[in-house]
Amino acid sequence: MSIPAPRTPPAAPPQTGLPDVARRLLAIRARMDSAARNAGRNPADVRLVAVSKFHPAQAVSAAMAAGQRVFGENRVQEACAKFPPLRATTPDLRLHLIGGLQTNKARDAVKIADMIESLDRPALADALDRAAQAEGRMPDLLVEVNTGDEAQKFGVPREQADSFIRTCRQRFGASLRGLMCIPPAGQDPVPHFRLLRAMAGEHGLDVLSMGMSADFEQAIAQGATLVRVGSAIFGPRPPTV
Ligand SMILES: *Cc1c(COP(=O)(O)O)cnc(C)c1O
Repeated sequence: MSIPAPRTPPAAPPQTGLPDVARRLLAIRARMDSAARNAGRNPADVRLVAVSKFHPAQAVSAAMAAGQRVFGENRVQEACAKFPPLRATTPDLRLHLIGGLQTNKARDAVKIADMIESLDRPALADALDRAAQAEGRMPDLLVEVNTGDEAQKFGVPREQADSFIRTCRQRFGASLRGLMCIPPAGQDPVPHFRLLRAMAGEHGLDVLSMGMSADFEQAIAQGATLVRVGSAIFGPRPPTV
């Protein structure tokens, strides 16, 4: 009687890193909840936008499997390639466009986005208006404010923000939901979060998109209702060109 050959062990599951996405997502949600509670806020009033830019659809699916439904993308083209197939299986998926938007992408943006967080100039407002008429739908809109008045950065400059917000409000009505900012790198973000909150208050807007991987807890303490977290969920992005 021969000794049976040792069985080959079952193949290891493919190394996708996907369980990491689920684990990190749960950790971020837990941190968001305690930041909200520490600030005396209801955790349900703060939503997570999982920023999946430069990560494959597979990473988005992994986050969806862990219950995530709201995603943020910077580029219209990338979003158009990634999201329609995912949405076909998960109709309650929500896509936020959070990057600087060219007017020639307005129509695709209006077609695909549930929210555009980067409305920052009159020419874009015009393009979105035309696109909305052509498409018969208008996503929710946030005005992006360049709270640090940084050159070469997206967002309406501070001194133009009030009048721009006012005209957008008249033009877009209830589709204009609130404000977004990206504080200057390397600065204390808190004064920028405070400024954004004060501006939203003056205009009676209640959506505040502020806070990223490094500072979302501070943003929640200052009233954020949307936090945009990318690398802390999906890992580092490949360097951009
Ligand atoms: C990439 C990006 C984020 C996410 O940044 P992380 O630091 O990776 O969390 C948030 N907001 C905007 C506008 C972005 O472009």
